[in-house]
Amino acid sequence: MFPPPVEKLLRILNASGYQAYVVGGAVRDILLGRTPREYDLATNACPKALQDLAAKHNLRSFPKGVAFGVVSFVVDGMPIEVATFRTETYGLDAHRPEKVDFLWALEDDLARRDFTVNAMALDLDGRLHDPFGGQEDLRRGILRAVGDPDERFAEDALRAFRACRFAAECGFTIEPRTLAAISRARDRIAGLSVERVRDEIERILLSLYPATGCELLRKAGLLEAQCRARDAKQEQMVPVLPELARLYGVPQNTRYHTFDVWRHTMLVLEGVPEEITLRWAALLHDVAKGMPGVRTLNRRGELSDPAHERLGATMAREVLERLRVAPDCARRVVWLVRQHMHFPVPEEKAVVKWLRRLALDFKDREGLAEGVGQLLILREADLKGGKVEIRARLRENARLKELVGDVLGRIPFYPADLAVKGRVVAQYLGEGPQVGAVLEGLVQEIQEGKLANETEVLVAALEKRFGKKKNQFIHKENDRRWRNAEK
Ligand code: ATP
Ligand code: MG
Repeated sequence: MFPPPVEKLLRILNASGYQAYVVGGAVRDILLGRTPREYDLATNACPKALQDLAAKHNLRSFPKGVAFGVVSFVVDGMPIEVATFRTETYGLDAHRPEKVDFLWALEDDLARRDFTVNAMALDLDGRLHDPFGGQEDLRRGILRAVGDPDERFAEDALRAFRACRFAAECGFTIEPRTLAAISRARDRIAGLSVERVRDEIERILLSLYPATGCELLRKAGLLEAQCRARDAKQEQMVPVLPELARLYGVPQNTRYHTFDVWRHTMLVLEGVPEEITLRWAALLHDVAKGMPGVRTLNRRGELSDPAHERLGATMAREVLERLRVAPDCARRVVWLVRQHMHFPVPEEKAVVKWLRRLALDFKDREGLAEGVGQLLILREADLKGGKVEIRARLRENARLKELVGDVLGRIPFYPADLAVKGRVVAQYLGEGPQVGAVLEGLVQEIQEGKLANETEVLVAALEKRFGKKKNQFIHKENDRRWRNAEK
C-alpha cells in the first residue's frame, strides 16, 4: 500500500514501541486512488526520540521546527516528514499557532487538522482511523471543516484558501456551513502574507478544476479580501484579486459571445493546458473588458471593448507584480494578454510579417516559437469559450498553427538562424557592426523569398556583392583600426 521507504520507517517506529501512521493528504489521495505527492507520518515518539532513532538506524534526519514537533527524514532517497502528535493553540497570528503541546493519542492529533478528508490515518496493516467521517465525505465529494468551522477559520485563515484549493484539486463541493464560515473569516485574510495566498492561487490555477476553485474564491469574497505584502522597508495591505471579481456579470457582444466575461474567462481557464503561464494568461486575458474608457458601443450599437488587450496588459502586470508572481512568468503573461487580439490571416506572407513583428520581443527562435505556440493555444481556448458557431474560426486557427510551424522551421527570424555565420561575412567586410547589418539584411531577403537559406546560396550572394571589394574593405577596416590605435 505504501512505497517501501514509508513502510520501512513505519516498521522502525513500531519496532521501537511507538505508534506510527500515515496521515493527512496521503491518506486522502490513496483513498481517492491518486498517487500522493508526499507522505507525512504522525507518531507518539517525541522529536528527540525520533532523532535518536534516525541515528541508530543510519537515516538522514533533520529537525524542521522541533518546536512544532516535526522531524524530516530521508529514507532511501525519499523525504518523509514525521510529526509528533500535537495540539495547536492559536493566538493573534492569522496562520501560525501560538503554542504547541505534544499528545499521546492519535485522535487528538487528527482533531487539529483542517478538513475531515485530511483528518484520517492509516497504519502499517492498512487499518483506517477516521473519527470525523472523512471517508464518507470523500465518497460524497464534500469538504467539511473538522469541528466548529468558524473557530477553525478564525484559528488559521489560510484554511479558507486551502478549502478552495482542495475543492479545485478534487472536484469537491464545500459543505454549506463550512463555506459560510469561510466568508465570515474574510477579514482574517489580512493576516496572511501575499506569498502564501499567491501559492494557493497558483495551485488552484494548476488544479484539475481551476474554475471550481475560482468560483469558490469569488463566492466566499476571498478575491476582494486584503492580505499583507512585506518588503525590506515596510508592510502594506494589498487586495487579492478584485480585478477578477469585477468580471462577474459583465455582459458581452452576443454576436461573438454566449457568456458574460466571468464565465467566458472560466471556460478559457479550463481550456488551456495545466501550465502556470497559460493559466495566468487565460485568467487575465480579458481583465479589462467592461472597464471605463474601454467599454463602448460599436457602429451597430453592440457592446464592444476595443483595445481591451492594451489596458488588459497593464492591469495584468499590476496584478502579477502585486502578487509577486515569478518575473519570467509575469513578463510572458503580460505579452500574451497584449497580443491575444492580433492574428494574421493564415497565409504565408501575412504570417511572416506577423512573426517578424513578434520576433522583436524575443532574443532567439526558441523563445519566439514558445511564445507564439502559447499564444495560439490561448486563442484556441478563447475561441472555444466564445460563441457556438466558431468552427470556421477554429479551423482558421488550426491552419495558422500549421503554417507557423512550417514557417518557423524554414524561415530565419534571427541572424543565428542563417546558414552562414558572421565569421564568413567578416571575411569579406572585416569585423565590426557592418557584419550584423549584412546578416539582418540576409534574414529579411530570405523572409521575402529573394534568397534561400542555404550555405552555398548565401556565400554566392556575398561573393557577388562583396567579393571584389573584399580586399579593399579589409584594407579600409585595418586603416580605421590603425587610426584608432594612434588616437
Ligand atoms: P497537499 O500535500 O496535496 O497539499 P495535504 O493535505 O497533504 O495536501 P499539507 O499542507 O501537505 O496538505 O499538510 C498535510 C496535512 O496536515 C493535511 O492533510 C492536514 O491534515 C494538515 N494540515 C496542513 N495544513 C493545515 C492547516 N493550515 N490547518 C490544519 N491542518 C493542516
Ligand atoms: Mg501533503
